[in-house]
Amino acid sequence: MVERYDAIVCGGSFGGLAAAHQIGGRVLIIDRLAIGDGETSASAVPLACLENMDMSDCIDQVHEHMYIHTRHHVQRLTFFPFCTFNYRAFCEELFSRTGADYVQARITRARAGRVETTAGIFEAPIVIDSAGWRTAAGKGAERSARSPRKSFGIESRQSFRGEGLHFYVGPSRGPRRFYWAFPAGDHVRAGLATYSGHSDLSADLDTFCSELSLGSPGPIHGGFFTSRLTDPVRDGMFLVGDSAGMCLPVSGEGIRPALVFGQVAGRLADRVRAGEMRLDEALSSYRAFVNSRAKGYRLLERLQTVLNVLPDPLFATFAQLVSSRRALAYAVRGYWNVASPDLLTAVRTPEPLPVTAVPA
Ligand SMILES: Cc1cc2nc3c(=O)[nH]c(=O)nc-3n(C[C@H](O)[C@H](O)[C@H](O)COP(=O)(O)OP(=O)(O)OC[C@H]3O[C@@H](n4cnc5c(N)ncnc54)[C@H](O)[C@@H]3O)c2cc1C
Repeated sequence: MVERYDAIVCGGSFGGLAAAHQIGGRVLIIDRLAIGDGETSASAVPLACLENMDMSDCIDQVHEHMYIHTRHHVQRLTFFPFCTFNYRAFCEELFSRTGADYVQARITRARAGRVETTAGIFEAPIVIDSAGWRTAAGKGAERSARSPRKSFGIESRQSFRGEGLHFYVGPSRGPRRFYWAFPAGDHVRAGLATYSGHSDLSADLDTFCSELSLGSPGPIHGGFFTSRLTDPVRDGMFLVGDSAGMCLPVSGEGIRPALVFGQVAGRLADRVRAGEMRLDEALSSYRAFVNSRAKGYRLLERLQTVLNVLPDPLFATFAQLVSSRRALAYAVRGYWNVASPDLLTAVRTPEPLPVTAVPA
């Protein structure tokens, strides 16, 4: 039997939950994992994201500063505050606010109007693909002209107390590694990533943890994240978060864009549900909104390419230059606007979105 809904959201993590939260009526979220079980990240975001969504209860620790460690230099950067937060608490709280139904199943194919899963077939006029870098589309699906650029990262958690978000730039020979240590209350999230998608990183994580005197890594999680914007509309569906390559290049920050673009897609979808807009109009508005941020993504992508091959001493010089007050103010304004937390809200809002282009 085919079950029918007003909207189906494929994937119940950041992008999916943010979208579902903005849609009224009968909404179904499908995920292969229980809500809150699928953490892949270090769960660090600009503090404003959680504040604007009224999710401050999920915060583990607030960070006023960021530190870039190169071999002989540590550069402190101070711009907007970040926080580390509890992924499970965040997902469970946001899910409870959606009022949506949930089915635990693997999606085998999704396209406009219809989602096939291991638990049956579901239909809805609106489908949102927020299933992460693999996408929910499945075999035989229409592909975007631009394939996503995949980075890969892993991390683990150890007991530790400290402050600030710390990034460490690894040697530039071979696939460059970017390491991090993000304190989160009673523990630190220590991990590393490669922009090249090189995934054989466990030995490097061991070495990194022992260099920081953290002991052996505990359980490890991670995976790919996609930082090249693709077409956010495919096969009649809204694509949100990593499924549309929305993770920001350079920083690998993918939670903020998944939340922001998720809420944008959800609000447009809700107008379709309410009969205020046709689906094709909503999809075009969404594409226009995402494309209005494409310039910022392209700039960051170019910077990522350069940083990936920059010799270590030049990396230190780059960090120093960026930290000068004027350069930082300029860079931060652009970086913020690519996926502005100002667009996030704590309530389902009937207000039409500022879908006209805002320069990145
Ligand atoms: C090691 C590491 C650390 C990171 N740290 C940070 C960080 O600190 N801050 C930050 O902003 N970003 C970070 N990122 C990037 C960030 O994790 C992603 O960009 C973000 O999770 C994207 O959110 P999403 O909702 O698009 O996808 P995801 O979070 O990947 O969610 C996709 C959901 O879809 C479900 N799903 C997938 N396929 C199917 C299927 N076939 N059927 C049913 N369900 C399916 C999954 O179970 C999952 O729940 C990190 C990434 C890694 C790998």
